[in-house]
Amino acid sequence: MTQVPILTYHANNINGMDYQNNDHVALAADLKMIHELGFNIITMDELVSWHSGDASDSVVKHAVVLTCDDGTDFDYHDLDHPHCGWQRSFFNILKDHQARTGARLHMTNFVIVSPEARVTLDQKCLIGKSWWQDSWWSAAQASGLMDIANHSWDHNHGVLENNNHNDDSFRCIADKAACDQQIKQAQEFLDQHILGDYQSKYFAYPYGNHSDYLRFEYLPEFGKGLNLKAAFSTEPKHVNRDTAIWGMPRYVCNNDWHNTEQLKDILLQA
Ligand SMILES: [Zn+2]
Repeated sequence: MTQVPILTYHANNINGMDYQNNDHVALAADLKMIHELGFNIITMDELVSWHSGDASDSVVKHAVVLTCDDGTDFDYHDLDHPHCGWQRSFFNILKDHQARTGARLHMTNFVIVSPEARVTLDQKCLIGKSWWQDSWWSAAQASGLMDIANHSWDHNHGVLENNNHNDDSFRCIADKAACDQQIKQAQEFLDQHILGDYQSKYFAYPYGNHSDYLRFEYLPEFGKGLNLKAAFSTEPKHVNRDTAIWGMPRYVCNNDWHNTEQLKDILLQA
């Protein structure tokens, strides 16, 4: 059966300059390996269109889809990390690789949407240098290289003082009001703030988990009305045509694989 892996990276995973502690180092190495292996990087739109039967298997042959989560400035801007030095942004790593190889490239970036939440997260979880901005979203989207997508209003993050229970989980987002607040509000903000011909289409569950209500009731009932086409977990599996659209699996860098050899093993399952 034809199947496609979706890979996920976190640009704020910077704890050194080795593959295992820095997703920037990992992404650059993985792109090189993926290219040498002869795999194609396709867009999420291409994957979803194949999944829904609107594109043939040839579109996804030897294909992989790239995503990243949380939307810090490390995704887009090169920044001088106070402990680890200059970090090439994910966006510029893609551009470097494209300039070197001419390969088609694309990454879908699931951003945390709430401006207030990003200010607090920047202070409490990042470095406190205001490196969780939305000023680059429109440029990333317009580039054709990095699409912006919905990673919820505030990630229901444990350091925030709103509706979370300090348990770093999205499972308590379990009624209509909470889902509207996290997902609908984020969809509307993205549509209003990203310039050009843009509509938010994809949602990634924060922490990769969800309540039964969100996954099996809210999204099936209201997802299409919110213009959502699919939702993504962090279950480490490939996507095939039987995969449920509200439970698309993804592999996570430095969780499900820790070097290019392990990623190669994942890719060659396809
Ligand atoms: Zn996240």
